[in-house]
Formats: sequence, structure tokens, C-alpha cells
Amino acid sequence: MSVRTRIAPSPTGQDLHIGNAYTALINYVVAKKAGGQFIIRIEDTDRTRLVEGSEQRILASLGWLGIPHQEGPDIGGQYAPYRQSDRLESYRKYAENLIAKGHAYYCFCTAERLEEMRKKQEADHKPPMYDGLCKTIDPKDAKSRVEKGERHVIRMNVPDDGVTAFTDLIRGEVSFENALIDDQVIIKSDNFPTYHLGVVIDDHEMKISHIIRGEEWISSTPKHILLYNFFGWEIPKIAHVSVLRNPDRSKLSKRKNPVWVSDYKAKGYLPEAILNYLASLAWSYPDGRDVFSVGEMTDVFEISQLKTSAPIFDVEKLRWMNGEYIRMMSDEDLMQQLYAFDSHIPHDDVKMKQILPLVKERMKTLAEFWSLARFFFEKPDVFERLGNIRLSAIAREALSESDWTHEAMEKRVREASDVAHEKARDVFMELRLAVTGKTVGPPLLESLMILGKEETLKRLTG
Ligand code: GLU
Repeated sequence: MSVRTRIAPSPTGQDLHIGNAYTALINYVVAKKAGGQFIIRIEDTDRTRLVEGSEQRILASLGWLGIPHQEGPDIGGQYAPYRQSDRLESYRKYAENLIAKGHAYYCFCTAERLEEMRKKQEADHKPPMYDGLCKTIDPKDAKSRVEKGERHVIRMNVPDDGVTAFTDLIRGEVSFENALIDDQVIIKSDNFPTYHLGVVIDDHEMKISHIIRGEEWISSTPKHILLYNFFGWEIPKIAHVSVLRNPDRSKLSKRKNPVWVSDYKAKGYLPEAILNYLASLAWSYPDGRDVFSVGEMTDVFEISQLKTSAPIFDVEKLRWMNGEYIRMMSDEDLMQQLYAFDSHIPHDDVKMKQILPLVKERMKTLAEFWSLARFFFEKPDVFERLGNIRLSAIAREALSESDWTHEAMEKRVREASDVAHEKARDVFMELRLAVTGKTVGPPLLESLMILGKEETLKRLTG
């Protein structure tokens, strides 16, 4: 059987969540390694939470990251459509089929009754579960009430005893007592399937061989296993990857870190660095190297090697990784990336190729280029601190008589500082401040050589 993996994002957020990017990467690598297919299916059955444009942004972010899919709502495929709202007809039929076999039933309980039931359960310290009232209705009566148009849902009929178990490829044997599994709604009153029914039918129809998803879905899995068994379908291999955490171990959330892939793009992170960093969160390259490509990962990756401990997503480590990738790029590539990234940057290839070797070591994101290198293009208008006129006059005088080489400038400034009984360090600092507006930045004398004598002296004149 060919390996077919998928992600099934719901278009309910601004964009692709970085946690979903992580799951997508693992799914992609597993399929790619086996020469199989990686599929995207959009799960948009929760109509109340839909966010306009989310699907397009999810797909765009996956494309930007460089995780290609072989089938999906944008490119179609053998098992199209790949958007659940376009597949509605089949879900109802499958659910009716379960009713006919006694594995599901119509439920007519009103919201008020369910609320009352829940309150009572809470007061009695019982788990909040449907009490099965509508299970006792004669199926023929139920059917005729439905035909008369009475508002209803369809629930799965979970056995009262026994256990439902599965083997997780990462976590091993997992089992749940049926008595604690709710008679889950599978078709809602708006005739849309719930996640549980939709996911099982679609994974089956799309011949998904491996379901690899976040651990937050683990408690849903027994319901799915029951549904597979009700339908008499083969159960795919299942793995739950650990959910990404903040460094303080709380669940990754908007309040602590950006969570959308587009946020990282906007901040000047490179897709290769993001993927490398995500890959390294719960997995180590066998020879211990930190920097590796998705291709290199694919050659050696085994899903069982994923650690179950909480992977910590630390933006500082991602920045470090991003800096490594910036340094691995050729100046030409980096220049083109910077042009595309930041419209402030003048397209001056000659100057850019002089500047890049000076700033490349110091940049961790593309966004940092402009703040490091702006002074090469524009006279600073904001200064980190007030200038010292006496020190800048020493620098100006020394440089106005200097040849424009590194050695000559250095010698002149040192000599002039000695004569004036000032520390050369202070004069250099003043020079840097006057020319760049900042107290730290790329190597000073090399920068002055690019800037030129005339511009440097102009900036020292104030
Ligand atoms: N629609 C679910 C989500 O939003 C899919 C979970 C799964 O992969 O089964 O992530």
C-alpha cells in the first residue's frame, strides 16, 4: 500500500499556525521518504469559526515554506474534492448507514434539555456526557420524526463497556474505556458533519495510510477507531506528535510568541531555517549536526524517533538558526532576497556587494539588514545619544588629511587622539555615532571606505 499522509487544517485562523507547519513537515517527510503522497484537505465544517481568506493563506504559507503537496483543494487530485464543504453529500449517507446498523441514532434533544442535563451532571460530579435518552426512541418513530422535518442531530452509539485501543507509532499502546467515551454528535442540525465523522470518512476515502497529527487530538482518536470499526474499514497507522511549547512549557500561544507562519515571514525569517528549526525540536539528526536540509532529513528520518517530551519553540534559537542560513547564502542570493523582502533597500548591486560582507555576520533576520546598513544609503537623522563636538572635530580633522585606506585612517585618528589627550577609543566611538547614528554596527573603517571621504566628512560636520 502506498504511503499517503495529510494535514487537514481548519480555515479558522489568520494563517498557517507554526504548530501546523510542524505537523505538515513531519507528514511531508514521511510521505516523501516512502515515495508516497502528501495531501492537503481543508476541514471547514465548523461554519461558525470560518475566517475569510484563511484557506488561501494556509496554502500560500505552505508554498512559501517549501512543503509541496501532491493533492489538495488548489490542485485537485484523484480523490477530489479536497474541501469538506464540497463533500457534504457523502457524509449524511454514511451516517444513515450507521443508523441502519444500529451504530448511530437520531437525537432530538433541545439545547435547553442538554444544558439542564449538563448542570445536573456537574452537580452530581459526573463527567459531562450525553445520557442516551434518544437512543431509546423506536428507530421507526425517529425516522418518521426526521421525515416530518423535526430538528435533530445524529449521534454515534458508543458501546457501554469494553475498551477502545490503538497503537500510536510514537507513543505505543493507547487505550480508553468506552464508558468514558461520549455518544458524539456526528451530523449536526445544520446537516454538516462534525470533525469526527468528516475526518474518518475522508481519511478512508482518500486512502490515507498514516494519520500524523498533534497530540491534542489523541482523545478524539478512540471515537475515530470506533467509527472505523462500525464501518468495517481498515484503520490507518496513527501517530500523535507532541504539541509545541513556549520556553516556560505553556502551550504556544499568541500572547507569548508569534504563532502564524506569515509573522515569521514578515520578520525576515527564511523558510529553510524555519523548517530546519522545527525539525530539530523533537528529533536529532543521527550524527548530531544542527544544520540540515529537509532533503537530508528525509533520507534518514523515522517517525518512531520523535521524542514524546514537549518540544520547546524558542524564538531566540530560531533566530540563531536563521543567522546560520543567512551566512550560508551567497551574497548574490542574499541581495536578491533582501530586495524582495524590504522595499527600502535601493537596488544598487555594486554598493550592496560591498556592504554585505560587512553586515552578513551580524544579521540574524532579513529585517535586520536595513537597521544595520541604512546609514550607507542615508544620512542618519536619529542618533543613539548626543554627540560630543570636541571629539568629532578631532576625527574630522584627522580624516580630512588622511588617505582613504584602512591603515591610514586608523593611524591618523590615533595620532590626533594622542595629541589632543583623548582616548582613541572615544574618538572612534564618536566617529561611529556621527556617521551611523549608532554606537554599534559593522566594522567602522571598512564602512567608511564604502561611504567615501566626502560623505564621511559631511556627516562629521554636522
Ligand atoms: N481539522 C483538524 C485541525 O484543525 C484536523 C485534525 C486531524 O489532523 O485529524 O487540525
